[in-house]
Amino acid sequence: MRLPKMREIGEALRSLFSRPYTTDFPFKPVVPPDGFRGKPQYYENDCVGCLACYEVCPARAIDYVDDKENRTRTLTHHQDICIYCQQCEKACITEKGIVLTKEYDLATYDRKASVTQSKKELVICPHCGDIIGCLDHLRFLAKKVGHLLYANPTLLLARHRELDALEKQPPLESPHPRSGHLKMLCPNCRREMILKEQW
Ligand code: SF4
Ligand code: SF4
Repeated sequence: MRLPKMREIGEALRSLFSRPYTTDFPFKPVVPPDGFRGKPQYYENDCVGCLACYEVCPARAIDYVDDKENRTRTLTHHQDICIYCQQCEKACITEKGIVLTKEYDLATYDRKASVTQSKKELVICPHCGDIIGCLDHLRFLAKKVGHLLYANPTLLLARHRELDALEKQPPLESPHPRSGHLKMLCPNCRREMILKEQW
């Protein structure tokens, strides 16, 4: 007959009289430690719509839709696909557009509701209709490049969009040098305009 293992018996007896190792969740909330990687959250005021988080997400938990008609880009994070790796937060160019919170109690019956979104205004080229980028992204870049901003009319105009008069002009039929200078054009149309102006 095999003798019972004394170590296991000791552990069993000790566990009878010691406090449980497990927490009382869900009856009592648990306070996650610092550095805990919980549900990622978009912060629309700090997100500029650059898509860096979308590009780096290894689980494809982030997608986006560009609506040219309403000039909106909508980024959506799906928490049911997310693996909480934090790559999106690390790649975020503003460092605060998407942040992993300490939220961990994420069970739900409705997968469609387990999303967080960021909506940003799109800038469309008035000549060819291509998407140039998000207005906030252009403004962010305009601040980053400092005085070099004056070498790029589209960034300059994005910074001074407050003037508003620029956006009220009708669409360009051709990027004529004079009128084109005061439009936020995509790189191809800008190039065409400069070539027409110089040659
Ligand atoms: S935490 Fe990782 S998996 Fe989740 S959205 Fe960010 S990059 Fe994607
Ligand atoms: S600013 Fe940050 S959160 Fe917004 S799209 Fe870019 S990387 Fe994502």
